[in-house]
Amino acid sequence: MLMCKDLAVIASDYIDGELGTGGKLSVRMHLMMCRHCRTFIGQLKQSTVLMAAHSSQQAPADYIARLDEEIHRALTQGIGSNQGDY
Ligand SMILES: [Zn+2]
Repeated sequence: MLMCKDLAVIASDYIDGELGTGGKLSVRMHLMMCRHCRTFIGQLKQSTVLMAAHSSQQAPADYIARLDEEIHRALTQGIGSNQGDY
């Protein structure tokens, strides 16, 4: 039976699809029973996707700066508030 610490070790292999059928199955079995590892895998998956997106297509610096600005504005003023006309 897979333990949480075992899962943490092979988690990235699982996400990359590098585990064999048996390995995949035991990870899935564990995820069905363990909410913590589901959260863990979910977060890991998300950051892996982000990292892959960043490495495969490099976003221009000014785009990132603008995005940063957008996020900051959304956080300080509330999302969508710049779309409403009074
Ligand atoms: Zn677990």
